[in-house]
Amino acid sequence: MPIASDPSSDTESPDDEQAVPMLACHRLSPRPCVNQALVEELKPLREFRFLRYGTHAKESISYATAVSCIIGTPFKIETVEQAAKIPKVGEKLTLKIQEFLEYGFIKESRYAKANELYERGVRTLEDLRRAMNRKRIDSYLKYYDDLQEKIPRSEVESILAFVELQLNRIKPGFKTLLCGGYRRGKEFSNDVDILITYPHRDGEERGVLQALVERMQQKNLIPEDGILTLTTCGTDRIITPNRSATLLDALDKALIIFRHPANGTTRVRDKYRRVDLVVTTWREWGSAVVGWTGSTQFERDLRRHAKRIDLKFDSGGIRDRTTDEPVEAVTEKDVFRVLGLDYIPPEMRNADP
Ligand code: ATP
Ligand code: MG
Ligand code: MN
Repeated sequence: MPIASDPSSDTESPDDEQAVPMLACHRLSPRPCVNQALVEELKPLREFRFLRYGTHAKESISYATAVSCIIGTPFKIETVEQAAKIPKVGEKLTLKIQEFLEYGFIKESRYAKANELYERGVRTLEDLRRAMNRKRIDSYLKYYDDLQEKIPRSEVESILAFVELQLNRIKPGFKTLLCGGYRRGKEFSNDVDILITYPHRDGEERGVLQALVERMQQKNLIPEDGILTLTTCGTDRIITPNRSATLLDALDKALIIFRHPANGTTRVRDKYRRVDLVVTTWREWGSAVVGWTGSTQFERDLRRHAKRIDLKFDSGGIRDRTTDEPVEAVTEKDVFRVLGLDYIPPEMRNADP
């Protein structure tokens, strides 16, 4: 299925039948992809750049973008010539791919991987330092071992059931959706991303996040030091404004540590899991779903695509860049349509390794 409805979707060589589109929103990114073994080999090198330069640095993003283009390459890369034609894949990376094609591995990647634990530790601490105050760091360290564990799909679903139960006690009629990696089909997640809305009735969702978090604390589903961030400004307004420089979107969210009670079988003791609770109005539902499904590179490319057609996209909605007027898109499919894109199912948005 070719994805090329957008005329601005440029490729390195438009004449080439096998050309790979530049942006993840113009191509399919399954997991595993055709070149998964190569992607696995490049992953530590990408991580290394994140660590060295930070996740938002030019060097990191350009490498992540190149790896993402490889993920989106629909044919098996078997020659250096094929590799060199992939968008964003420069000379140095082509050499790495050549090494992979010849030997089946990349030497530098092995060194990076050997330091993986160290790297992950440093990166986590760096992220912590950047994003958190002392109190948050303390609670993170307290639950560190649990938070390092990957969460299987069945447990993600169980956590949603706990949240839905409390939500229904507050007021029936809410709709929830598991987003993030889970929705993209990942077997194991690092956290649980839950989107909440009240269908067709904007305003009904007001105050629900605060009420939910309080209830969950009363029920001891959130430990006392388990609220890492709680923003409830978005739903105090009728139309949320554009995101500020510090926030990715203007949606209400609670980033929490959830205590998943032991059940005697799959969980012999309580487990502490990171959960993101995000509340959105119905009118912004589609954008919120797209925005919180990811992956990161997919979102980045979606924003770049929107910019090209003079729109602004984030999980808080779509806006006209010139007038700043909101553009209506209630469902996820509406979002793709408004952005002039062919619909891409969540399982094909795995644009990061
Ligand atoms: P995993 O959780 O397993 O590491 P993931 O893809 O679910 O993988 P998350 O960090 O949970 O990764 O993010 C899911 C998606 O939600 C991201 O793609 C991102 O676009 C969006 N997102 C995450 N944090 C925010 C935020 N603070 N504001 C807006 N969007 C966010
Ligand atoms: Mg997640
Ligand atoms: Mn998350």
